[in-house]
Amino acid sequence: MVLLRNIRFVSHCERHMAPVNGRALIGYLPRDRVVGISGVARVVDAFSKRLQIQEKITAQIASTLETELRPHGVAIVVEGAHGCMTSRGVHQSQATMVTSRMLGLFPEQPQLRHAFLSAINRATAASLGTFFSVAHPIR
Ligand SMILES: [Zn+2]
Repeated sequence: MVLLRNIRFVSHCERHMAPVNGRALIGYLPRDRVVGISGVARVVDAFSKRLQIQEKITAQIASTLETELRPHGVAIVVEGAHGCMTSRGVHQSQATMVTSRMLGLFPEQPQLRHAFLSAINRATAASLGTFFSVAHPIR
């Protein structure tokens, strides 16, 4: 499994046009093509530039990687701090939204999901606490 972590992006939410500071964590199972951080960063960048909603960015990145790389599977988790949530309205400065998308073998094989989630879990446990619980795999 290739794991690419903390690919940062800045987007703007479709509803409020407020900034969204996000990061993507991506895992994929290469078939024959691999791509590095810069290739994935370009994909993330392309979809986050326009006015967006986070669920859509997540789905678009996943399906683009699936089309371009033809991997055995793609797993992506996106975490975003939404300006419309953190600095106005409800003023939840620490709140983030987490969205995910799993394609190919990931939705089919729980042990792969587990491997992906525990890999990003180990790495992000310090900052996120128990947010990504492997006991409740994200689908
Ligand atoms: Zn918003």
